Amino acid sequence: MPRTALIAAMNEELAALLPAIEGARVEPRGGREFWLGRLAGHEVVAVRSGIGKVAAAVTATLLLDHFRADRVLFLGVAGGIGTAVQVGDVVVADALLQHDMDASPLFPRHEVPLTGLSRFPVDAGFSDAVARGAAAALAEHGETAALLGHGCRVHRGLIVSGDRFVATVGESRALRALLPDALAVEMEGAAVAQVCHAFGTPLAVVRSISDRADDTAHVDFGEFLHRVAAPLGLAIVQHALAAA
Ligand code: SAH
Repeated sequence: MPRTALIAAMNEELAALLPAIEGARVEPRGGREFWLGRLAGHEVVAVRSGIGKVAAAVTATLLLDHFRADRVLFLGVAGGIGTAVQVGDVVVADALLQHDMDASPLFPRHEVPLTGLSRFPVDAGFSDAVARGAAAALAEHGETAALLGHGCRVHRGLIVSGDRFVATVGESRALRALLPDALAVEMEGAAVAQVCHAFGTPLAVVRSISDRADDTAHVDFGEFLHRVAAPLGLAIVQHALAAA
């Protein structure tokens, strides 16, 4: 049975998921707590990475090299950047890019030096299962999300990551101008994608949209995180694992 790694950056994003793990055994390593057990009939190892690209990369490396995960699912909240992406929607990545990587003029902007890549891939089949899971989860929890926003659609496309909470209209507009196909912005996904690419391990990234990365992002973010992120996160993972 393949072992699926489940990663989220913050406690709130895992609050419903960790107690749902059957036969959970907690193993500390590298300043993190890795929860091993079973969920929706699958062997899982779940962990809170902490916020930002370095925290996420360390965590992903431990999951792959020490805990021998066979595939990785990153879940959490993100800011909506795409014009059609609303609070309450879900974005499943079809590629991930580090928007704050810039070694130009030595390398093209956004390219991770010496990898030849700016857009890191995800596993198409696993991401399909996660998107189906997200649609099923929204059908159950859309009402809660709709209380806070308007959306409950599932989008597929580019997710961009950087070590910045994007919380002004100016900054999200600048990101959109530079990367017109970006749907969502967050702080971990592309780092995990780089690690998974190095190990050749399948990855999917799913983000529920907590804010529009604009001047009210900090308010929307907090409310969504506390009211919606936990139940929606668990439902997405349960449906995704059942479909995978
Ligand atoms: N002080 C805040 C820090 C949150 S950082 C707190 O803990 O309350 C934002 C987290 O949510 C990151 O893990 C990131 O991946 C995601 N995120 C949500 N909206 C975002 C946005 N607009 N810009 C960047 N990251 C965002």
